[in-house]
Amino acid sequence: MLIKEAAIIKGDGLLKGQDIKIDENRIAAIGPGLNADRGEEVLDGRRKLAIPGLVNAHTHLAMTLFRGYADDMELVPWLKEKIWPLEAKLNEEDISWGVKLGCLEQIRAGITCYCDMYLFPDETASATKKMGLRAVVGAGVFEIFPELLGGVEPFLRRWQKDELITPAIGPHAVNTCSEQTLLFAKELAEKYKAFIHIHLSETRQEVEELKSRMVLSPVEYLESLGMLNSHLVAAHCVWVSPRDIEKLAAGKANVVHCPVSNMKLASGFSPVERLCSSGVNVCLGTDGASSNNNLNIFQEMKVSAISEKCIRKNPTALPASLVWKMATENAYSCFGLPLGLRAGGLADLSLIDLQRPWFYPENNIVSHLIYSMTGGVDTTIVNGKILMREGIIPGEAEILQSAQERFERLIS
Ligand SMILES: [Zn+2]
Repeated sequence: MLIKEAAIIKGDGLLKGQDIKIDENRIAAIGPGLNADRGEEVLDGRRKLAIPGLVNAHTHLAMTLFRGYADDMELVPWLKEKIWPLEAKLNEEDISWGVKLGCLEQIRAGITCYCDMYLFPDETASATKKMGLRAVVGAGVFEIFPELLGGVEPFLRRWQKDELITPAIGPHAVNTCSEQTLLFAKELAEKYKAFIHIHLSETRQEVEELKSRMVLSPVEYLESLGMLNSHLVAAHCVWVSPRDIEKLAAGKANVVHCPVSNMKLASGFSPVERLCSSGVNVCLGTDGASSNNNLNIFQEMKVSAISEKCIRKNPTALPASLVWKMATENAYSCFGLPLGLRAGGLADLSLIDLQRPWFYPENNIVSHLIYSMTGGVDTTIVNGKILMREGIIPGEAEILQSAQERFERLIS
């Protein structure tokens, strides 16, 4: 496939007239004047911007089915009265349609890879693969569902060599998993070189509860279990101390900043700039659609940048270029994926229609993407395959209809 005459980001400006040659699932070359081979598919890139695939590094995709069902509530009644009763009814079909709905939304937002943690990981992986997205799928583990433990290793084994799916383990959090469960996750992660995807220091209550029980913060506790390493994907890290931050950096652990979810649930603000300046690899995530309520990394980038400025009372805090890096390069390095708009990289990218008011006047394109963009993703390609072309995703109407039916079944 050849994309002709697209613009790409150079510094913070536009470099126009670039052709992008895709050979199977890789980018073969980028530059002006590349020619199509006989019969090769050619996409018109004129007046469009090619961006590398964005990564949503923390979500629970099937929770799209709960979008808008319960908002503006306290955490405990929200879980007990609304979310848990619905989760108790979930079956494989629900997960499959919920995941497909989430994939649609992410494809429309230029997200080409996401990192999940939830129930029914096999269904999540299968539905994602059908939709053509790349994902790190964590098999969710919670103390209240001990029956899930037995399924984790077979799941890791089944998806070991998949081209699009990286299987992982998702122990929910240190206050919802026993030490035995955390050590079980650690052992399997070591055996399969798998990622551990966990919620960490998300709420003040989680930290205080653990400190009163163990005298350790959640970060110190994971350190004591030997779990702070580059295979740890720790979502939130809102209530982390300077000492915790040093430990996360020393262990080379990855942190996923989810500002919209943290603000909506009133969990607090992560010290994200301090995490970054201390050398922690920080990525961005939306969290589930029941606490965000969308899956849009562009929005997460804007909120990250402006909330940090406001909290620090410093307009130079968390500049646009840094949040752009969090959604792209930092995430690629977290998951060890050869991504990015470069020759040799996996062909995961989007084309954005530049003929929109929020991209004018032509100026600093990174600033426009973070602060002013409100739409325009036109084409999304993952692993060399076109998932959305000029705004059209095949099968979208069926997915929307089925997701509606699954929701109605769940609340009936
Ligand atoms: Zn979460």
